[in-house]
Amino acid sequence: MTAGARLTIDLAALAGNYRLIREQVGPAAVGGVVKANGYGLGAVEVARTLIAEGCRHIFVALQGEAEALVPQLDGTAQVYILNGLLPGGEGPCAALGAVPVLNSLDQTERWAAQAASSGRRLPAVLQVDTGMSRMGFPADELDVLLARPALLERIDLRFVMSHLACADTPADAANAAQAARFAQIAARFPGVPRALDNSGGAFHPRGHFDLVRAGIALYGGAPNDRANPMQPVVTLEARIAQLRTIPAGTGVGYGLTFRTTRETRIATIPVGYADGWPRCLGNVGSAYVAGHRVAVAGRVSMDSMTLDVTDVPAEHLYPGAPVELLGPHQGIDAVAADAGTISYEILTQLSRRYERVYLPAKPA
Ligand SMILES: *Cc1c(COP(=O)(O)O)cnc(C)c1O
Repeated sequence: MTAGARLTIDLAALAGNYRLIREQVGPAAVGGVVKANGYGLGAVEVARTLIAEGCRHIFVALQGEAEALVPQLDGTAQVYILNGLLPGGEGPCAALGAVPVLNSLDQTERWAAQAASSGRRLPAVLQVDTGMSRMGFPADELDVLLARPALLERIDLRFVMSHLACADTPADAANAAQAARFAQIAARFPGVPRALDNSGGAFHPRGHFDLVRAGIALYGGAPNDRANPMQPVVTLEARIAQLRTIPAGTGVGYGLTFRTTRETRIATIPVGYADGWPRCLGNVGSAYVAGHRVAVAGRVSMDSMTLDVTDVPAEHLYPGAPVELLGPHQGIDAVAADAGTISYEILTQLSRRYERVYLPAKPA
């Protein structure tokens, strides 16, 4: 291995998570969200795995992501663009056969115009804002849209969707308010399937409309602040690059922010903030060596960090010895908590420099 660490992506665990969400929300269907390169794990590999499990709805954020992904898939799943259409994107989007999420009247007018010039109805999802104030039709634009049936006639409406602001805190009253508002708005589009929930919403104790858009839970992240029933999908294993023993009173790393209080064994591993390991984990984060917790000693550098391995039995410490950064002792939720962020950010920052190994969903 010449990379600083090996990232292993367990596609069987991903497939298992997909099935678990499907059981959770049935009879609603489950679509897979693979934006940001499949939350950092590889959009093509993730999408193919989900499609093999029967998934028919794949969501990306950007049109460019759809352009990269669609040719890599077998055509059995529909690819949707959550962020909708930027001006000028209409022609290429229609040619690609991707389905834009129309978030505003302006986007709808441009897509309808594209349909007119293509001489056929074009597919789309309509997103309505039910309280998050980020994307989707505001109430006033929705009234305008519904008063202009000629506009919608040009569009083959596949779903009406919205997005929850507080899905990861199921007790928040905003969830019920958004779900009720969504049901009301969706009723203005009779016969059109409805999609509200993300991973968090999928675990709320109520119905799930017709389609769930699952992201983080597929990748093993906790869907809410209560429990994590998902299987871990990623492991990240570095190797010790160098070991040293330093006396008490010695500084370690940039700024010498760690000072030894005893004779200390320091292991340097070739993973740093340029690999997406958060710099804020300096003197805060952990790693594991042969199951023993070791603390990050000093600041995280760009391409390396230093660990206090003094309490690890010597037989586990040698150049090349494995160091667990993500694995059975420390998952993405734990690292995110230490770093003051969310598992989404830990995953999406995972370095392209890592060696990547995919464990197949089904035995080859
Ligand atoms: C990212 C995203 C999702 C997936 O959210 P998770 O919390 O990762 O399940 C679903 N819907 C929309 C609109 C999104 O932007």
